[in-house]
Amino acid sequence: MIPELNNMTTKLQGGSNLLRVPEPADENDVLREQLEYLIAHVSEQGICGCPDCERYLRVRSVLLEIFSEPEPTRAQQLAAMPMAA
Ligand SMILES: [Zn+2]
Repeated sequence: MIPELNNMTTKLQGGSNLLRVPEPADENDVLREQLEYLIAHVSEQGICGCPDCERYLRVRSVLLEIFSEPEPTRAQQLAAMPMAA
């Protein structure tokens, strides 16, 4: 028998408690780091058009989605729509 394999199996079987430990904090940290990295990149040299800038723009549009105004064309359409009399 290979002792290492035995060890792994034992860990997997006995380590069910590990699955209950929430680990989203790690991912959130990564999100924050990425966001800070992208913001720093853009604020340092502006939008230079590199993949990082594209990521920044994508993330930014998603994060600012809830703050974005309704599209003016739509508002105009609504305003121009004749009320049924
Ligand atoms: Zn860039």
